[in-house]
Amino acid sequence: MPFFFDLDGTLYDNRCGMVDHINRLIEEWIMRVVPVKKEDVASFRHDLFTRYGGTLPGLAVEYGSDYYASLRFCHNFRVEDFVQPDPVLHETLLSLSGRKYVFTTGYRFYAVRVLKALGILECFDGIIDAVDVFPAPKPSPKAFRRALQITAEEDVSRCVFLDDQPRNVAAGHNEGFFSVQVGTEYAVDPYADAWIPCIHDLLTIPQFQTEG
Ligand SMILES: [Mg+2]
Repeated sequence: MPFFFDLDGTLYDNRCGMVDHINRLIEEWIMRVVPVKKEDVASFRHDLFTRYGGTLPGLAVEYGSDYYASLRFCHNFRVEDFVQPDPVLHETLLSLSGRKYVFTTGYRFYAVRVLKALGILECFDGIIDAVDVFPAPKPSPKAFRRALQITAEEDVSRCVFLDDQPRNVAAGHNEGFFSVQVGTEYAVDPYADAWIPCIHDLLTIPQFQTEG
């Protein structure tokens, strides 16, 4: 069975602070391209996030922000300061049979750096990133259909989707994926087909143990 893994908060724990760092850079970018006051940035951003699934695609569509430049700006830092090699995850991924993809709303070049820093880049067959699904990232159904199209995976009923965000987990389930919520940061979504507290627990899901 093919696996589609979210990156941030799924393949590593958000408590390392990397997403918080990215969020600060996104707020900095917003103030560069839109005349919004610092105290209004959070609500401005929340509005775009709700309507577009991401701030940067919303800025590109509605305000003409250079999408590639924004992705580079918000992901341009040393990821090694936040994440370290994870040999347990490496071993777990290798013992899981089936093609594996990273399906992220982040930037491909950033995803590669994070996977390298975690020591798991070689475990993956490919990456679907923000540019691939522009302007409709997860949880848009379009993003899930695009991910299947890019990877030429034809039978969604055999595909597994893993994410830390409840709304993405629900969207994956609704698109026909076996949808797994990962982590303890959010309440488990009622649409989740399975839940694991940590990505290291992947092989505790019965469906993943016997599949060839
Ligand atoms: Mg995530």
